[in-house]
Amino acid sequence: MKEKVNYMEDIFSEMYDKCNKSDMVLIGIGEEFQYNWDILLKNQRYREIEQEINEEMSERSGNEKEASYKWIIPFLQKMALDEWPDRILDEAYKKLEKITVDTNYFIITTVMDDYIYRYNFNKERVVTPCGGFRKMQCDINCSNVLTEPDDEAYKKVKLYFNKEISLKELKKPICEVCGSEKRFNQIGVSKYAENGYLPQWEIYTKWLQGTVNKKTCVIELGTGMYLPSIIRWPFEKIVYYNKKAFLYRIHASLYQMEKEISDRGIGIKENSVKFLANGFVK
Ligand SMILES: [Zn+2]
Repeated sequence: MKEKVNYMEDIFSEMYDKCNKSDMVLIGIGEEFQYNWDILLKNQRYREIEQEINEEMSERSGNEKEASYKWIIPFLQKMALDEWPDRILDEAYKKLEKITVDTNYFIITTVMDDYIYRYNFNKERVVTPCGGFRKMQCDINCSNVLTEPDDEAYKKVKLYFNKEISLKELKKPICEVCGSEKRFNQIGVSKYAENGYLPQWEIYTKWLQGTVNKKTCVIELGTGMYLPSIIRWPFEKIVYYNKKAFLYRIHASLYQMEKEISDRGIGIKENSVKFLANGFVK
């Protein structure tokens, strides 16, 4: 066990050095970096609420089911994110700040919890193509407009969570244009409004073009097979074509490297959040 700890520390400081000696640093963040939803799911009041919502829904039939209270779940998720910190995740992000602070970096993440925006990363150097909780949209994206999160609904959901008002007093946020449900701007809605991330995506692709022939340190943090076409496969391609690139692939189980690039990369079998949180920066 002690040997493993030493090995991880060595790899971590080697990676830290490599980042700081590279022209560019490309970071991809995936599933392992997701906020630990158990914090919410194991909360007793949350379980009561789930039960109440399900009971309420079973009393309804046919089209009426649409009027269910499922819509409050994402607001409870937002509440958990805002109020109940994930400590180890916090440590990992702080370490990532230290690794990148003096580098020319770009971070792409498929995680939708918005944790990335809590830290001192340059927002011009972050892209979150799967969205998050920062904006809302019409479920069917009738007019391609993003709005601020519905404060009124959020406040009421929190009051309900604290048992100060009843479930029936909650009102689902509705699109002002077409009357559909308003939801957080995340993949998973009926029609995802991509204008939430596209401007940043353009900056990202331009930045990527700049890595050609540059010494580039590429780091994959917990990126498994969820949407591999966003991070995992493009990163492999970058390292394959750029002979000056080096890839660190850190994942508890999907750390394997393709043979074609194995001389310019290393797969590290470790949960990426733990790997960063425990890493030591001089
Ligand atoms: Zn609409």
